[in-house]
Amino acid sequence: MRRLLLSLLGLMLAAAVPVRAQDRLNVVASFSILADFVRNVGGDRVDVTTLVGPDGDVHVYTPAPADASKVAAAKLLVINGLGLEGWLPRLAQSAGGQATIVTATRGVTPIIIGSAPDPHAWQSVLNAKIYVANIRDALVKADPAAAAAFAARANAYLARLAGLDLEVRAAVAQIAPSRRQVISTHNAFGYFAKAYGIDFIAPSGVSTESEASARDIAAIISQIRRLRIPAVFLENISDPRLIERIAAETGVKVGGTLYSDSLTGENGDSPTYIDMVRHNIRTLTSALAE
Ligand code: ZN
Repeated sequence: MRRLLLSLLGLMLAAAVPVRAQDRLNVVASFSILADFVRNVGGDRVDVTTLVGPDGDVHVYTPAPADASKVAAAKLLVINGLGLEGWLPRLAQSAGGQATIVTATRGVTPIIIGSAPDPHAWQSVLNAKIYVANIRDALVKADPAAAAAFAARANAYLARLAGLDLEVRAAVAQIAPSRRQVISTHNAFGYFAKAYGIDFIAPSGVSTESEASARDIAAIISQIRRLRIPAVFLENISDPRLIERIAAETGVKVGGTLYSDSLTGENGDSPTYIDMVRHNIRTLTSALAE
């Protein structure tokens, strides 16, 4: 009995001892949303570094020299894929190192626009669950000794995401069907639109790299008038001037700022993915309420 108590005590102590810094898995994530997923699954067993930080634009990122040393030191490099990080292959090559590349969208059904995939798959919470499962599997493979901890943390987080998906559906159900159409800056909400039934029209394409032409803008303005679109939205990663101009020309109100491709910093209102989705749905529902 005494021996059993002692071994139980030993187990409890082992669980309470923090993971030593040198035992943590070094993970680099290409942008802030992926880093948040890795933190949720990895907890204190991972050290996560983000390349494109809060409010940054992952489409047009120029890697800094320090990024190459971050990648060189990483065990795992978590990327979105679907063409989002065009700058990454060159960075990974120049960094050298042994990092395993983990494509978080593996298994997601892509939306194809023209002949290229739309990379913004995280805007559907059900896709985010696929990202999290891929990240969990990669962490387990890289550190099998922590498999049980990763699985438990992933399960808890996946359950929160399942709840979040229902929250989004319940919120959209409150918006009159005729008002479920909005304008945003670039085409980042295709997966959200498909999953939840709000139509998004954007003057810029799926990348922020290409600017909207005068003709694109004229087409959007006539669409807004014809479809009686109730609101236009800014994005945290994009220049606000285009949307402000469209709002001024059409008299349609600016409904707020949507977070498309990045979280905010710690002091912003959306430092996590769950915060970001809640922020977006609050912004949409308050602007689209009659
Ligand atoms: Zn984007």
